[in-house]
Amino acid sequence: MQQLLSVVIPCYNEEEVIGETLKRLRDFRATVTDLDVEFIFVDDGSKDRTRELLTAAQQANPEIRVVGFARNFGHQTAVTAGIDAASGDAVVLIDADLQDPPEVISEMIALWRNGYHVVYGTRVDRPGESAFKLVTARAFYRVLNRLSDVPIPLDTGDFRLMDRKVVNVLKGMPERDRFIRGMVSWVGFRQVALPYRRAERFAGESKYPLRKMVRFATDGIMSFSTKPLRLAVTLGLISSFFALLGIINTLVVRLTTEHWVPGWAEIMVAILFLGGVQLLCIGILGEYVGRTYNEIKRRPLYVVQDRLGFPDDQQ
Ligand code: UDP
Ligand code: MG
Repeated sequence: MQQLLSVVIPCYNEEEVIGETLKRLRDFRATVTDLDVEFIFVDDGSKDRTRELLTAAQQANPEIRVVGFARNFGHQTAVTAGIDAASGDAVVLIDADLQDPPEVISEMIALWRNGYHVVYGTRVDRPGESAFKLVTARAFYRVLNRLSDVPIPLDTGDFRLMDRKVVNVLKGMPERDRFIRGMVSWVGFRQVALPYRRAERFAGESKYPLRKMVRFATDGIMSFSTKPLRLAVTLGLISSFFALLGIINTLVVRLTTEHWVPGWAEIMVAILFLGGVQLLCIGILGEYVGRTYNEIKRRPLYVVQDRLGFPDDQQ
């Protein structure tokens, strides 16, 4: 029996690129002779013709499988559903917009055959991204690495190949706020970086507006570190120190001089400063409490509306 490679492709409103993506994946498929391949497209509740196009492609090609979400659940959740649905000996995660070149998968397979369990793509070049995205992404990976208790590779997205062993561990990690690249680092095994040039998006717009980027970055930091909680303690200590100085000063001035009325400025500064630190710390606590609440609800991570092309399903 040949080994099976699963390729997971999350798609959200990608009607403009799906055709080209299918073509590039077919070209890649033709180069793989010694593996069976399945392509698992996860339609993350697209509002355009993505689902239709995927359904048509599935009917024409039995290697294609489609998982259709009941609504938009977000990129990381879509990837999770793809991993859950995959039955391959190795699973590859790749974006639908052709920013991750499918040809690189062949190099990943070669490294996997050499005994690596995870081969992750590291971006050496990201043409066509806004300066803002480049700067924030760069800063994010560095801050995250500082804070995180497990090292998370710099400038690395979700484009990667994972061995079945790693996939099985990943499937047993039920957390709600998912930061897959970090979770894979946490698993361990033999991991290796594969530098590649990230291409421009083939067509359409980024589905990661600033709002989603901030959410994603917070998830990354909060899920992989409790250091922000310690930051709250440090800030609290520093502000208490200054508050103590202020109290001593106030008492000295009040008791030993006659000039104690005009203290308005000091009071305002102290109130504002302490208020700021307190709000920040409460906010940090709130983030963690909110996450705990989310976990405790034990809702399913995603809702599947339909599945197409899976051989084991009763049709
Ligand atoms: N995506 C998704 N659900 C979302 C947002 C994005 O499945 O809510 C998919 C999208 O179709 C693409 C991949 O995730 O295949 C990466 O998104 P995008 O290219 O927009 O992000 P960027 O490359 O700009 O960071
Ligand atoms: Mg993209």
